[in-house]
Amino acid sequence: MSKLKIALEKRLDEIFGKYIRIRDFRKGCITCGCRLTYETATCGHYMKRRHKATRWSEINCNAQCWACNHSDDDALYRLRLVNLIGEAEVQQLESLAHDYADFTITDLNDLITKFKILTHEATN
Ligand SMILES: [Zn+2]
Repeated sequence: MSKLKIALEKRLDEIFGKYIRIRDFRKGCITCGCRLTYETATCGHYMKRRHKATRWSEINCNAQCWACNHSDDDALYRLRLVNLIGEAEVQQLESLAHDYADFTITDLNDLITKFKILTHEATN
């Protein structure tokens, strides 16, 4: 992977994570329900970040506390996600995660722009 792509993915991870935290911190941790602030919220991936096809999916990510984000108990996260988006959507997410995904430089730039706009809207 090119150096530019690596840098863009890193930038996208930052902007996307910021967006998820701003969008969700008021709801508390999706897994344990504890209260969060923007500062204590983390961007928790249901299907892990190594699955590129769902790495920047808005339904795959929710605010989590640090402990839940670093726990290996994904069963509870799954249960909460089913409550939030439904079993069919969760199954679709699990299937999509294993698809091959190749993001071009244009794709990455477009996603960066998209989440910058969404973050701006969520802030105001
Ligand atoms: Zn938690």
